[in-house]
Amino acid sequence: MPRIAYVNGQYVPHAQAAVHVEDRGYQFADAVYEVWGVIDGALTDFDGHLTRLARSLRELEIRQPVSDSALTAVLHRLVSVNRIHHGLVYLQISRGVARRDHVYPDPAVPASIVITVRSPPAAAAEARARHGISIITRPDERWARRDIKTVSLLPNVIAKQAAHRKGAAECWMIDPNGMITEGAAANAWIINADGVLVTRPANNDILNGITRRIILALADREGLKTEERPFSRDEALQAREAFITSATSYLTPVVQIDGQAVGNGHPGSLSLRLRHSYVATAKERSRRSSARRPVWLVARQSKRLQN
Ligand code: PLP
Repeated sequence: MPRIAYVNGQYVPHAQAAVHVEDRGYQFADAVYEVWGVIDGALTDFDGHLTRLARSLRELEIRQPVSDSALTAVLHRLVSVNRIHHGLVYLQISRGVARRDHVYPDPAVPASIVITVRSPPAAAAEARARHGISIITRPDERWARRDIKTVSLLPNVIAKQAAHRKGAAECWMIDPNGMITEGAAANAWIINADGVLVTRPANNDILNGITRRIILALADREGLKTEERPFSRDEALQAREAFITSATSYLTPVVQIDGQAVGNGHPGSLSLRLRHSYVATAKERSRRSSARRPVWLVARQSKRLQN
């Protein structure tokens, strides 16, 4: 199926989607991004990601090139025309195209916007959730504003590659005080011997994951104790369970850290329960928000009901 992307106001075939060589996203990583998961044809945690996008743009003084309502329409249209039932939507906004100069263009140029979609096989993610993943740890080499979702991801790329070389799926990064910050592309969590969920507080040290916030709320709803505080690699190795969260992986159990088993070396029951709650809640929300459901999916579902 040909994929359609959105570039600066145009819907174009994915293979022809391109930006100018002088785009500041390309030249300086002067750009921010957002990623929505898609479950049952609906964008997950829609407003949370939109709000975080606005914050990232504000922090970098980049003007959002389209209104929230226009953006919402484009995002849903892309899910619909690409018939994404399960997958992700990637959005990137850069400061725009200008002659290469570190200083911001003055007067400002229009920001560039690119949106693409992907539908990776769900089975692989399900298998990772069922079996759990191995992770490695290494020093956090990133800048001091990790709360901004910028495309400047080179240290994250290097960390993920280091994990990949060791057959691991993620890399938890460690700050100069020996505490875990987060993964290269996900937030980090442990469940300690008392059954308390622990994750680092949201400040400039980490990206405040939208999935992280939802899991905190779900844990609260289920009467589980949570603590937002830093934890060390040693504490993680003593933990009963560990997991990561992100919009595309939801909640994935961690069963091994630097080659050592977490708990009994299998996905923890509490982690799996929370993953189940997260997916069930997203599916329920998708069912209820028919207005946001792509037309082709509504048609398919009503046909199923008729049969
Ligand atoms: N931390 C980092 C560094 C990330 O790249 C991501 C997701 O891309 C997350 C955390 C999780 O954020 P979210 O749950 O909003 O996807």
